Amino acid sequence: MRNKIVAGNWKMNNNATQTKALINDLKASLHNIKTNCRVVIAPTSINLSLAVQETKDSVIEVSAQNMHQASNGAYTGEISADMLLDVGINTVILGHSERRTLFDESDELLAEKVNTALEKGLEIIFCFGESLNDRKLDNHFLEVGSQVKKSLFHLPEASWKNIILAYEPVWAIGTGETASPEQAQEMHAFIRQIVEKKYNKEVAENVSILYGGSVKPSNAVEIFSKEDVDGGLIGGASLNASDFTGIITAF
Ligand code: PEP
Repeated sequence: MRNKIVAGNWKMNNNATQTKALINDLKASLHNIKTNCRVVIAPTSINLSLAVQETKDSVIEVSAQNMHQASNGAYTGEISADMLLDVGINTVILGHSERRTLFDESDELLAEKVNTALEKGLEIIFCFGESLNDRKLDNHFLEVGSQVKKSLFHLPEASWKNIILAYEPVWAIGTGETASPEQAQEMHAFIRQIVEKKYNKEVAENVSILYGGSVKPSNAVEIFSKEDVDGGLIGGASLNASDFTGIITAF
């Protein structure tokens, strides 16, 4: 049985005071709610330690937004897997489209990051998605398939228990434009199908596939109702406790 997951990517938002306040608001709004999904937040790296402390004794899990592929060394400004583990982080987002486009992270580099994260025992929320141009040219299946294959299909079957997939069409991220529930379902089913073809039905059926791209309380119910959509990776709406809670309760 695959997990249902709602994860909030806070990106470069919220200082320490705001991090604490948002976590407290979230804890308060989740207090009387019976959630049937994992709830994950990904604050900026400088506040990960604080977030771990503030979320202990709650259902909220904390993820990092990125990490470096090397174990340690002369990589000014970077953060290693061990450093994440050391402050109590067990999950890392890799491959977000902002990392791919603004920081030139290639499929090959992401494969290295995936390897390091898994070797160290981290769980990965692995993001991928097509550009608007790919979608217009009807290249979206090809592009998404290629991103998934190049960064993940070298992995042994056993590694897949630590992989969560997140389909995020780039044209829907932070734009207010959402893929229709049908477009999300169609792509998620395609991803499950290529995973089954490469591995087997069990791996394909057990991997959670999240949708990301302008998910809000008003559209979450419809998107999450689709068979192959196992949750969401949420940007903007995760910065507000009541919106994020609204999305969580969509399950
Ligand atoms: C994201 O950046 O992962 C994302 C889905 O953002 P938004 O929800 O704001 O579109």
